Amino acid sequence: MRRILCCALGGLLLLGMFGLSACKKDGPSRAEYSIRGEFFPEENKIAAQMTVSVPNNSETVFTSLSFELWANAYREGAQYPPVSKTYAPAAYYAGESWGGIEILSVGGAKGYEVCGEDENILSVALEEELYPGERAEIEISFETLLPQMDHRLGVGEHTVNLTHFYPALCAVGEGGFLEYVYSPYGDPFVSECADYELSLTLPAGYRIASNGTSIVHTEGDKQVLELNASGVRDIAVVLGKQMELLSDSAGKVPIEYWYIEDGAPQETMKAAKDALSYFSRTFGEYGYSRYVLVQTDFPYGGMEYSGLAMIAEDLPKEDVAAVVAHETAHQWWYGMVGSDQFVHAWQDEGLAEFSAALFLGAYPEYGGSYEETVARSVSAYRAFYSLNEQLEKNNTAMERPLTQYAGEYEYRNLAYDKGVILFDRLRATVGDRKFFSGLKNYVSEHSGRIASPEDLMGCFHRAGADVEGLFRSFLDGTCVI
Ligand SMILES: [Zn+2]
Repeated sequence: MRRILCCALGGLLLLGMFGLSACKKDGPSRAEYSIRGEFFPEENKIAAQMTVSVPNNSETVFTSLSFELWANAYREGAQYPPVSKTYAPAAYYAGESWGGIEILSVGGAKGYEVCGEDENILSVALEEELYPGERAEIEISFETLLPQMDHRLGVGEHTVNLTHFYPALCAVGEGGFLEYVYSPYGDPFVSECADYELSLTLPAGYRIASNGTSIVHTEGDKQVLELNASGVRDIAVVLGKQMELLSDSAGKVPIEYWYIEDGAPQETMKAAKDALSYFSRTFGEYGYSRYVLVQTDFPYGGMEYSGLAMIAEDLPKEDVAAVVAHETAHQWWYGMVGSDQFVHAWQDEGLAEFSAALFLGAYPEYGGSYEETVARSVSAYRAFYSLNEQLEKNNTAMERPLTQYAGEYEYRNLAYDKGVILFDRLRATVGDRKFFSGLKNYVSEHSGRIASPEDLMGCFHRAGADVEGLFRSFLDGTCVI
């Protein structure tokens, strides 16, 4: 995600145990989701049945499975709501509105309960123990209520954003399933790659953008979206009655740009094409069959999913290229190479923001430059640091879970700005050859997996750069900037 905040605010995973990349076919098997549902706009509701086949790729025996119920963060009284008080008035465009997910039944299991710190987890007790290498198949029937809201999940002013409307299998860490709460700051979603089939019935009249490959056919006065996506961390669907489509490609990769209102859609498309081409050359080949950019109702700059990125429909024109570059970079740093962004938010956000700086440096026609972008992060961070000193808050460690940020301002400065400074210092210290070789190693070695900070450091190490001391000084908050 990229936030435009400017003035208003003045566990390690088992390496190699998990899913495959969007492009790799070797390694352990992936979870397989099959979801059949219908969207009822008059009730702002999706009713669906989901069958999920879950492999045990760990070295322990599972007696239960845990799923994230992200939609429950949108319910009234949620302890960890999806939007902060700062952004709530803009996001809730029609006043307060609530959503949530109700589990109606779970088949193929001994029992289930909705639990977790904030009703955010569906725990399914298995009928039999699930040993490493085995699979369990369960069926979940659910209804998801969509808030009237401009956000990741909701009926917005112009678009209906359908992401994480289904129970999503928790990733597995050293201590078992990673059960994270939502957060108004950052992106709490940590998913291993999986294969999805979605069949979604909806009234005629909507245009549909989605990741994966999709076809739409009509059935009477309704239409049905059939979506297939392999090796993705999520599925994302955006519905709109006024969306326009512009199609192009970057090399062999088709690009779709869906927009609501854009005075210069060709320019936005060009930024997406240039960014996709540049990052493919710089980091390694793009890993999905197509790239979909969608202008949506969204309270911040943008949001990434596997093979699809959202950008806010009200972005200032001068920010469009940087936001498109940041979200496109997330296809590498989130989509292809996953990380535990709940605990190490800097790992994908810092890299995505730094990648946008690289892009602006390589394409001066977008009006920015690498040096200016880095200098802006340095001055923003110094202002933040100075304010912290005055408040006698001396903890500037980048390593912390999302729940331990004091607010958006701290999150922005530590995960994004300090992240940019970290990667810029690293580049200056080890030189371009080793730096870019390290990033290419990171993509080739960890696509399709969830990489730890040590994995990232190891990739630079194998490129001949000894970077651990520098990383540690940033992550622990001991470096001087
Ligand atoms: Zn981001």
